[in-house]
Amino acid sequence: MRTIDDFSLPLEYTTPLLEPLGNIVRDWAEREVIPFRREYDEDWKDHRLILPAMDKLLGVYGLQRFLWPEDLGGWGMGKSNYFYVAVYRLVEEMARADSGMCVAIGVVLWPIVYITVEPHVNRRLCEEFAPMFCQTDRAVFSCMAMTEPQGGSDIENVELLKGSTIQTTAVKDGDEWVINGHKLWPTNTGGVADLMAVICTTNPGSDDPGDIAVIFVPADRPGVTQGEAYEKAGMAADKNGDIWFENVRVPLWYRAHGPGDDAKYYGEIVASGNMGTIAMAAGVMLNIYEKLGEYTSSRIYRGKPLKENDAVAGALSDLAATIEAVRMIGYQAARMLDRPELYGDRWSPEVVAKIRAHRYFAVDRCLEVADTAMNLMEACGADRELDVEKHWRDLKMLQLWLGGKQLCQMEVARWFYACETL
Ligand SMILES: Cc1cc2nc3c(=O)[nH]c(=O)nc-3n(C[C@H](O)[C@H](O)[C@H](O)COP(=O)(O)OP(=O)(O)OC[C@H]3O[C@@H](n4cnc5c(N)ncnc54)[C@H](O)[C@@H]3O)c2cc1C
Repeated sequence: MRTIDDFSLPLEYTTPLLEPLGNIVRDWAEREVIPFRREYDEDWKDHRLILPAMDKLLGVYGLQRFLWPEDLGGWGMGKSNYFYVAVYRLVEEMARADSGMCVAIGVVLWPIVYITVEPHVNRRLCEEFAPMFCQTDRAVFSCMAMTEPQGGSDIENVELLKGSTIQTTAVKDGDEWVINGHKLWPTNTGGVADLMAVICTTNPGSDDPGDIAVIFVPADRPGVTQGEAYEKAGMAADKNGDIWFENVRVPLWYRAHGPGDDAKYYGEIVASGNMGTIAMAAGVMLNIYEKLGEYTSSRIYRGKPLKENDAVAGALSDLAATIEAVRMIGYQAARMLDRPELYGDRWSPEVVAKIRAHRYFAVDRCLEVADTAMNLMEACGADRELDVEKHWRDLKMLQLWLGGKQLCQMEVARWFYACETL
């Protein structure tokens, strides 16, 4: 049988740096995560086992420094023209081991994109927050606080609703913002967030994108309360919970950019989140490939391995074909983000819609194939020791976030068919 390294890579636009970076993550995953992930699944509340593994990759190996400028102690990837392709590679490797850890680690970088990636670097905020991430060997967690009790999809539907449903308010008082509101579900909450990027409105009910404000809030500010982590279907390493903001005060210059630009660059947050979701789906599928290969090679029926039966071979082929195709789709999405001079601005409705199309198509295919993998393994598919059921649960969650499949479909229909009311 081939290995996961026999699946194709888009060699013309990967760089030599990706090989050692990918190998560091694979080595970490094989030593710190894969042997223990069954136990991690039960550690969703306390993170007694999970946190040391996060400390290692984020703090000791330094992945949390990835985006910050080099002169501030970071790796300076925010100014490279293969940043998103590098992220694709890292995310796929992490998700092969555990997509919950992968999303938690990915979201450490995600909100920071707002202020560290060219052409929208906010140098003053980099100077303010880089030390938190770059001067420690402990994991530091950021979160992107968007979803609210009245619904997440409408907040992410920026092009149409332009922030009109956001209820978390930011009011100027002297040289400070005063923030009030309630967010639900952000990755890296449930008590773990250190730095939050909070989507607020400066004028509730307004559909002027200039009233959307993205404000950075250190989690230890008075008035910030994080609730307990929710108990959910899987992804134990990703803690999600409520956050309440009660008269939280931060300086005015903690706003990411300003009227208009905060809303504009939100498109890049959505597009990159969807690209990362494809990489996670591909990573999960690579491990299902490994597990299913072992299973169908070692189970003997009527004198031959399971994989030597026509119908089974057809299903195995669908799995390999899906990985080949999904990986290419995901790398192409990353490439579109890295090369705006070819594909358009990363925050443009066109790029957002196309990457949403890539994401929902890829995740749908992976879900279908993972379902078939469970059927091939029959009762063993449900056996928690074999991890396939874990990946199957996690894949479903990849379909639910960032407005889920429905918002993807609405944005794709809007762009390709000029729908005006979706
Ligand atoms: C593991 C995980 C991690 C997450 N991480 C984050 C995170 O980091 N940050 C964050 O902010 N959130 C996060 N979320 C929340 C997630 O992004 C939201 O759940 C998602 O965007 C959908 O929002 P919702 O659950 O409020 O559903 P809703 O938006 O209420 O949608 C419910 C249903 O109503 C439909 N609907 C919504 N609006 C309309 C409309 N106008 N017309 C017709 N139908 C509509 C939707 O299509 C959907 O079918 C996470 C969720 C999960 C499961």
